[in-house]
Formats: sequence, C-alpha cells, structure tokens
Amino acid sequence: MEDIAILSKWKIKKKKPIIIAGPCSVESREQLEATAFEIKKIAEVDFFRAGAWKSRTRKSSFEGKGEEAIQWLSEIQQKFSIAVCTEIASPKHLEICLKHGISNFWIGSRTVASPFSVKDISEALRGVKAKIMVKNPMNPDIELWTGAIERIYKAGICEIAAVHRGFFTYNKSNYRNEPLWQIPIELKRRIPSLPIICDVSHLCGKKEMISETAQWAMDLEMNGLMIESHIEAEKALPDARQQISPNDLRILLKNIQIPVKKRVKLQAQLNRLRLEIDETDRLLLQQLAQRMEIIKRMGEIKAENNISILQMERWKKILSERIEIGENLGIDKSFLFSLLQLIHEESIKIQAKINRKKE
Ligand code: PEP
Ligand code: MN
Repeated sequence: MEDIAILSKWKIKKKKPIIIAGPCSVESREQLEATAFEIKKIAEVDFFRAGAWKSRTRKSSFEGKGEEAIQWLSEIQQKFSIAVCTEIASPKHLEICLKHGISNFWIGSRTVASPFSVKDISEALRGVKAKIMVKNPMNPDIELWTGAIERIYKAGICEIAAVHRGFFTYNKSNYRNEPLWQIPIELKRRIPSLPIICDVSHLCGKKEMISETAQWAMDLEMNGLMIESHIEAEKALPDARQQISPNDLRILLKNIQIPVKKRVKLQAQLNRLRLEIDETDRLLLQQLAQRMEIIKRMGEIKAENNISILQMERWKKILSERIEIGENLGIDKSFLFSLLQLIHEESIKIQAKINRKKE
C-alpha cells in the first residue's frame, strides 16, 4: 500500500511516553473508584482506562456494565480530574459516552477487524471532538489496521493514535497475542506522525511478562504504554492473569528507561554496527539469490524428467539438519523453522513456475 497522508495532531513529548492505565473493565462503582484513587497518585499516568462493553466469545462471560459503567466513569473523570478513556464498538456506544462527557476512546481489535463497524463509527465521529486510539485487528493484517486509521482520520479526527496489542496466532506462544513487532514498525514507517501505544497487557496475557515487554516496547521507540491495573487484580472479572496492582504499576513506571536518541558517541557506535548489518544483509541476499539460481536449475531437470517438485524426505532432512546447524550457531529454533519454511515455499513456487512453462 502507498504511504498515507495522515498527520496526527496527538502531541507527544520526546521523553514522556503516553501512559494509559486502569482496569480491563468497570465491574462496580467501588472497584472503579478504589482503582482510580490509587492510579491518580501515579504522576506518569495520562489516562485512566476501563471498558464498559466487553466483546466476549461466550454469552456466559462478563459482558460489561454498559451505560451504568459510563456514568461511573464520568463521575471518576470529574472527581479525580483525570482524563478517562473507554472502548467504543458502535455509534450507540459513542452517543452514550458523549452524553456523559467522555471523549477519549479506543476501538477494540475485534471491531477494527470489521470495516463495516469502522465505517459506522467513523461516520458517527464526523464533527465530534475526540481522541481516538485504533487497536490493531486480531489478525496480522496491516492494511486493515491502516485502513481503519485512515477512515477515522478522514472523518475529521486528527488526534489519532494506534495501539499495538499483538496478534492472534494458532501457534503456541509465550505471549497471549504474538507481538510481531515488524508490523507496528512498518505502520510507523508509513505514518510517522502517528503515536503508537503498546498495550502490553493484552500482548503478554500474564503479569510476569509485563515489565520486561514494556521496556522492550520503549526500546523500540513506541510512544506509550497501555497497562491494565486493578485494585484487586487476582479477583478481576475478565483478564485476571494480566492485570497488575496499582502499586506494581507505580514501580514499573518508575523503573522504565526511555532510550535517549541523540547521544552522539552512542550514535556513532550504533552507526558503525548498522554498517556491519548492511553489509551482512547484502551478503545474505546474495547467498539467497545464489540458492534460488540452483533451485531454478533443479526445476529445469525435474520438469524435463517429470519428477515431482515436493520431495518430502528431502525436505524433512533439510529441516532437521539446518535446524541443528542453526541451533549450534545460537539461532532460535522456531525462528529457524519459520525461515526455512519460507525459503522452501519460495523454492517450490519457482519450480512450479518452470514446470508450468514446460507443459
Ligand atoms: C481491552 O483493551 O480491554 C480490550 C478488550 O482490548 P482488545 O480489543 O485489544 O482485545
Ligand atoms: Mn482486558
């Protein structure tokens, strides 16, 4: 997709990430107030978050308190003078929030996956003054994510940000949602003015991984963090495993290190390493091209002699041998597996093309 002319007016300070914290969901007035009371004391926090409508797979799960929750959230906004934000998934949700004086929103990842819903919300946002955060869709589709941001921006919302909350994968993973960091990085390349906030809670799915992942997000120059925090985290209705106490949140934010961009000496050292990387990549690509050439020659022979392209035994051997070599060189096994699969797929495509030409 071509680069997109979006100029987000959401102001970001260089050394101050945008911090959004609060419970996954509004569960009761007491829970909300007690959590907000503690979070308000943490100076780094810019927005207090809590969901009122929860999109759940099963009807039997907690689906949120709806308008009642928005009413309490609005009271919190006034009482603690803290900007609150919540999720909207439909024009109706937007209308209810605006009625109660709430105007900072995120659009959840299930909603972003549906262009129909995004279109409806965008139309309802026309002429509204609001800050909107667009979460990535559940599936790793950058076009869908970019498209949603574009629709909302074109509806006249200039204070717009993206939230990276990881992607659903069928594979087993340590994360609840696979980070696939290259996707938010590509989004930033396409829309440089767009702040990207990392929702480490939905990404990790468990509290033990949150500080480390938050630091990693900062090292990758993300512009903010969304962290779920609950006064009685272990008793939370949804997402109990990933919510941290306000005290743990305070400690996390105190310890987080914001990378300094322009330390000259460091910059020079990094630039030297970048040059080494450039050269290594060039060699890597040359080797890859050479491998493709060999594949083409093999494809010709197979096509002439009517030999099938996929040789399962050979593929199994390549996989196990290369993984062993790679692992001995200190390369991660699952990375090797994905890389070899990708190379193998491309080799098959090349040979299939040759084969079709011969027919
Ligand atoms: C949330 O932030 O509470 C939420 C449900 O997020 P997501 O849409 O990322 O799952
Ligand atoms: Mn949640």
